[in-house]
Amino acid sequence: MAVLSSVMYKMAESERASRFFHGSLTRPLVQRFVAGEDVGSVISEAKDLNASGMEVSLDLLGENVRDVMQATAYTDAYIDILKRIEQDGVRGNISVKLTMIGLDISDACAVGNIEKIVSAADECGNFVRIDMEGSAYTERTLAIFREIHCRHPQAVGIVLQSYLYRTDGDVEEMIERQARVRIVKGAYKEPDTIAYPRKQEVDTAYRRHVKRLLDAANYPAIATQDLEMVQLAKNHAARHDIDTSRYEFQMMYGIGRSLQSELAAEGYTVRIYVPFGEEWFPYFTRRLAERPANMLFLARSLVKR
Ligand SMILES: Cc1cc2nc3c(=O)[nH]c(=O)nc-3n(C[C@H](O)[C@H](O)[C@H](O)COP(=O)(O)OP(=O)(O)OC[C@H]3O[C@@H](n4cnc5c(N)ncnc54)[C@H](O)[C@@H]3O)c2cc1C
Repeated sequence: MAVLSSVMYKMAESERASRFFHGSLTRPLVQRFVAGEDVGSVISEAKDLNASGMEVSLDLLGENVRDVMQATAYTDAYIDILKRIEQDGVRGNISVKLTMIGLDISDACAVGNIEKIVSAADECGNFVRIDMEGSAYTERTLAIFREIHCRHPQAVGIVLQSYLYRTDGDVEEMIERQARVRIVKGAYKEPDTIAYPRKQEVDTAYRRHVKRLLDAANYPAIATQDLEMVQLAKNHAARHDIDTSRYEFQMMYGIGRSLQSELAAEGYTVRIYVPFGEEWFPYFTRRLAERPANMLFLARSLVKR
């Protein structure tokens, strides 16, 4: 399965594989993870999720943009999404990848664009989460986050990945800054010189980070589908009298739906990360690579056809 996973990570970068997955054969599997290709569909899906007691974070898919005009277009699209969220009364915020709005062009380009998006969110009392990408971008993403957070402390938050050895230090820095952190295990293929290679070690680090953030951070987001981690967070918060209003759970669209509903019914804040847009291929292949069962499901449905 490790071999299959590596193949999926490689496929995320392949043009030919992208063309194949854009065909009709794999549509049902894609639709499980991606809410639609246009703003209208995602707003309607967001309203349905709100109606069933869940908050949302809308993620316009796209990454590694190398053209200034394209980065500007995505920036404008995000500002439009913020307007739609306000106009349509959606309970939700947005998640943004810096490589979608210019990080591969220059730091200045990404800073200028994220500043525009976060200013727009700040003006309407909304919030922008800066997603964390592969390790080639960690340091630059954090540097840009620090700059924007100084100007808009209430309107922007960051993601930290427990699989990186450096993250204990980053957790402490974000606590010190009272910055809002989404803690995740990490979704990219990283070398063992910088990241824990074994799942067991990643899980141990994740437990440590969840507890530390619950104890000391400003409204942390525990982003996982792992039932054991969700239970750990609930138990730790209950044992230390940390009210449910001081943190939230976040889960991905289409994964662990019953767990999402159960948590919401128990009174926890649950935010669903809802990806949409035409550039869904790299996101989709990361979701496949994460779980052997997804790849088997894909293989079975192709053989059946
Ligand atoms: C809201 C949210 C935002 C995220 N943002 C980022 C980010 O900015 N940067 C980043 O690097 N990573 C991000 N991630 C991804 C994260 O790093 C993990 O790769 C992903 O969440 C899987 O880890 P897990 O904590 O669910 O635990 P795992 O141990 O991987 O999974 C636990 C269980 O969850 C279920 N599950 C997990 N993944 C899948 C899947 N793809 N399909 C079906 N079932 C699955 C399975 O039942 C599995 O046994 C985000 C995750 C979430 C939930």
